Amino acid sequence: MINIKKPKVFVTREIPKPGLDLLRKFCDVEVNPHDRVLTKQEIIKGVKGKDALLCLLTDNIDEEIIASNPNLKVIANYAVGYNNIDVSVATKYSIPVTNTPGVLTDTTADLTFSLLMCAARRLVESDNFMRAGKYKGWGPMLMLGHEITGKTIGIIGLGRIGSAVAKRAVNGFNMKVIYYEHDGPKPEVEKALGVKYADFDELLKQADFITLHVPLNDQTKHMVSTKEFGLMKSTAILINTSRGQVINEKALVEALKKGKIAGAALDVYEEEPAMAPGLNELDNALIVPHIGSATIETRTKMATMAAENVIAAVQCKVPPNLVNRVSLEQWKCKI
Ligand code: NAP
Repeated sequence: MINIKKPKVFVTREIPKPGLDLLRKFCDVEVNPHDRVLTKQEIIKGVKGKDALLCLLTDNIDEEIIASNPNLKVIANYAVGYNNIDVSVATKYSIPVTNTPGVLTDTTADLTFSLLMCAARRLVESDNFMRAGKYKGWGPMLMLGHEITGKTIGIIGLGRIGSAVAKRAVNGFNMKVIYYEHDGPKPEVEKALGVKYADFDELLKQADFITLHVPLNDQTKHMVSTKEFGLMKSTAILINTSRGQVINEKALVEALKKGKIAGAALDVYEEEPAMAPGLNELDNALIVPHIGSATIETRTKMATMAAENVIAAVQCKVPPNLVNRVSLEQWKCKI
């Protein structure tokens, strides 16, 4: 009997079973046995002799890791954002990098709207108030929040998730939607969604709710900082489900303390899992632990998608969700 060797894959953390089951049909799979983020040395040890790496946004895949196994046929991220991977280095080594776009769009847009509504209507504060036994009866001034219907929402980055948020705002809440994109207006999208382009500063000045949906890169890092808080309305609420480093978090804490803006609702943090000092003491900050895509259905789809990317690459096919340009000539599937 011929013994055909299966390609070897290292998975940096347990992901939903359907993804692992699919991988196991085609590959020998080694999964991090610990329920924690691995150290760099542990990842280097894990990828040794492997054909593929399936990693998470919590893994910083840098040159040291990539150079430790330049024979990897793919680095498959279990996320749509891939700022945790040094893509230019992977490209230099002709290693395809993949992500999981689309399957988490609605889920993340839903969380964005949940955060917007919870912050505007002070739901967490209200819940804490009840549990603390402070409710003594209905009051005309009790827990007054901010109206949502009919207000202006400013969307920064009108891609997949930004557009899904726009749909919810227009169709569900009759909101006026303005958006900013680094490439300027998108007339066809404007027509389809019923949204209007605004310059960055104008959006900050006009919006009652500002929501961030850009990828993290050199242009978007600290895109919102002290100057930008100075332009926002004192009644504005900022929502971030993109990446923590898009906001200067220290400047945000200052802005919230000084009342430069009314509130912030955050899923992501600059130095995750840490937070800027003082953030968790503010009543006008709503903070959740990076749960944008955290539904059973979506995480399962992400696992399957990441597995499909790995399987294609180890079979020398172009993976469906390739994010870098690796010339096939250079890649040669590394046979
Ligand atoms: P996407 O479809 O690529 O949308 C990003 C949009 O931002 C694109 O329209 C892009 O324009 C635009 N953009 C890029 N740079 C910009 C800049 N400097 N100024 C203004 N706009 C800019 O990505 P997506 O699927 O919507 O995801 C967006 C981000 O959300 C991801 O990168 C990820 O970091 C984050 N995310 C977080 C969670 C979570 O759990 N909290 C879940 C999913 C995603 P171009 O295409 O023209 O560059």
